[in-house]
Amino acid sequence: MHNNKQMTFSAPFSGALLKRAQIPDPVFAEGAMGDGLAIDPLDDVLHAPFAGVVINVARTRHAVNLRADNGSEWLLHVGIDTVGLNGDGFEALVTDGQRIEQGQPLLRFDLDKVACKSRSLISPLILLNGDQFALSPVRGPGAANVGEPLLVVTSLAQNTQNTSDSGVQASQARGRIRVAHSGGLHARPAAMVRQTARQFASQVELHFAGVSASTDSVTGLMGLGVAEQDEVEVVCLGHDSDIALQALLKALSTPSADDTSHAPLAAIPPRAHPNTEQGVMHGVIASPGLISGPLFRLDTIELDEDTGDHRPEEQHQILSHALVEVRADISASVDSGHHEQSAIFATHLAMLEDPALLDAAYDAIDQGRSATHAWSQAVLAQCTMLEKLDNPLLAERANDLRDLRQRVLLNLLGDARDVEIPPGAIIVAHELTPSDLLMLERCGIGGICMANGGATSHVAILARGKGLPCLVAMGPELFNVAQNHETVLDADNGRLELKPDDARLREIQTLRTQRFERRQLQQQQAHPPALTRDSVVIDVAANVVSRADAENAQLNGADGVGLLRTEFLFVDRSTAPTEEEQLSAYQSVLDAMPEKSVIIRTIDIGGDKQLDYLPLPAEANPVLGLRGIRLGQARPELLDHQLRALLRVRPLARCRILLPMITEVSELLAVRARIDELAQETGLTERPELGVMIEVPSAALLADQLAEHADFLSIGTNDLSQYTLAMDRDHAGLAARVDALHPALLRLIAMTCSAADAKSRWVGVCGALASDPLATAALIGLGVRELSVSPPHVAEIKAQVRDLDTRQCQALAQHLLTLTSAQAVREACRTFQTQVLPRAVIA
Ligand code: PEP
Ligand code: MG
Repeated sequence: MHNNKQMTFSAPFSGALLKRAQIPDPVFAEGAMGDGLAIDPLDDVLHAPFAGVVINVARTRHAVNLRADNGSEWLLHVGIDTVGLNGDGFEALVTDGQRIEQGQPLLRFDLDKVACKSRSLISPLILLNGDQFALSPVRGPGAANVGEPLLVVTSLAQNTQNTSDSGVQASQARGRIRVAHSGGLHARPAAMVRQTARQFASQVELHFAGVSASTDSVTGLMGLGVAEQDEVEVVCLGHDSDIALQALLKALSTPSADDTSHAPLAAIPPRAHPNTEQGVMHGVIASPGLISGPLFRLDTIELDEDTGDHRPEEQHQILSHALVEVRADISASVDSGHHEQSAIFATHLAMLEDPALLDAAYDAIDQGRSATHAWSQAVLAQCTMLEKLDNPLLAERANDLRDLRQRVLLNLLGDARDVEIPPGAIIVAHELTPSDLLMLERCGIGGICMANGGATSHVAILARGKGLPCLVAMGPELFNVAQNHETVLDADNGRLELKPDDARLREIQTLRTQRFERRQLQQQQAHPPALTRDSVVIDVAANVVSRADAENAQLNGADGVGLLRTEFLFVDRSTAPTEEEQLSAYQSVLDAMPEKSVIIRTIDIGGDKQLDYLPLPAEANPVLGLRGIRLGQARPELLDHQLRALLRVRPLARCRILLPMITEVSELLAVRARIDELAQETGLTERPELGVMIEVPSAALLADQLAEHADFLSIGTNDLSQYTLAMDRDHAGLAARVDALHPALLRLIAMTCSAADAKSRWVGVCGALASDPLATAALIGLGVRELSVSPPHVAEIKAQVRDLDTRQCQALAQHLLTLTSAQAVREACRTFQTQVLPRAVIA
């Protein structure tokens, strides 16, 4: 029985203390293994962070699992990807089942060797049974000394489980769980499951629909055909089976944050049409855009007949050598690419290490095949298996395998595909691979058409990220098209025009030039004020988080700062900013915006925004907890500090103070009274304007009361959407539905504007909706008079304003209030743009 419910976790090495999110490995950083932190060590000995027992030392001695006396179970993992060192450079100083005291040496390692041979020395320290314990940091990131207290670990259970300290014999543990990864166990989740299982000594298998697969094999796991919400059984065998099971259940039931496989679908609905229109082929939109260019067909590598006369040992060596080189190549892409790209290539790396694939290839060599044919045959067999599964997402992942086939074959054949691709070409391919796409992008292609593929494929994700127009699923007829023929790829509308005449080609050129020139023109007109056609001034201000942002906003023509999010001014520090530091930060933003007004919002911490120097208690539902102005009430000294600094900026007349997350008038009155007190203390006669954010439905509903006491109202459509629609603003799966153009929000905005108007107060919008040109007319029609947008959008929104007439906008707004969905509102706004606005604005 563990009666010690709270314990202190001390630094197991000296070194730089990092947050979990800073670990350079998504499996740890995203918390799939559990919560915790990391240290970039300076010493070569890992010490026990608490008293307890060694559950097990990894076979490769690069990690230990410990159980503390309060029952919390921990993985201390030296470096990243150090399992690959196979124990080289590591010495275990304890054994499985051994009792340990805090500070006792556990592992010794060769710091230089491990640093040179592994991806990183940063060592994750992860709580594995986090559902039973809460972690409270004792201090923020920075240099830590071995033995220094880092965390307080508190048991959440009334009665902690009776866990035997000596329970380290080999045992079997089983559990069932629903898979939460969108699209099921496709490549990335499968690779993550494999990586999780590799942290333990236990053998792990997944059972589904009467079939089982070892977690060692990514393709084996994908081959189970597990879809999202399918229930699988996890079976772990070994002396650490219990904690392995817990980690696996968590990995399977925690969707990864970067699972982008479905999200883009919501943003860009795929459309497929039969190829009926003369001279036009249709496809599913993977990435929008409009371009003309010569068509260029790209073929995949075909092998000649295998002569069959090979020495297996020699072919083994040839294949192994090629695999090592390709792995090194892919690892470089993982390290150097941006986030999405890295995730894709990390999956390729896991596939390349798949024992099922390697066994099949080496078996084929043993049967007399050449390395090239053996590799090709092994990969294609796995592709066939994936394509047979009734899961389009998994079938698409066969393309990743084909990419690996190609890469390894190129290495084996020693022949980089030497093709002359004309610049601006529209590439036609059966199905491109991610590395093909990166290679093609370097050649300066204009767009892509694929016979196969889907809008969720990795290539589609990459094409969107790079702004390359791309259509997929166009069918085999695509290959009947002649090479080098001038075509038009209208990926905005899912069309490939095969025989554009000269007039059409000229039109495309004109449209593209117009788009470019329109942007240039808007930029030239960015600085003068924006007046509607009936001469109503609409302020187009900017949202900023720093002085640099403010300078950029000034260059872009912003009429002022509509929102300075002060919480972001001090994110990179471990101590609270002094009053002087705050004053200098605020003053610098005012100075960057000569003559213009600057709205400074008091600190909006809590919810999804956290500061290192201000650790907040863990909350069950932080978005509904202590955030915004509520924190100012709970910690009045913080708010006082900020208000004192704000009252010192000059000229005070240009500084407006904005309060976040206001729900009722008493919160505003309390701050106004406090500002009066602080101003009197310093003999100040002037008062800055004081406004409130309308970002909680109650504030919109009580806007008449708030308008009575506030100088202005600023609508935060991001939070207002979240709280009105009851949809987390950061929820990837709901991203397409958290739409601030929902009629429910429009009604709250209308209510706010008319309440403010009755009290002669002005209303601005500083949420992301203000930057959406489709929403400009609606917002003006509802009565909004200031739009605070991201700096690069200033010119476009000003141009939009200048083409509007407020009476027409009001008629539009009245109509929108009667609609039933955000989709219907967007459609009506589009119709308004095409029917009412001059062409130049909307083309
Ligand atoms: C909002 O909620 O719309 C807003 C502007 O505030 P933030 O995005 O900082 O929460
Ligand atoms: Mg907000």
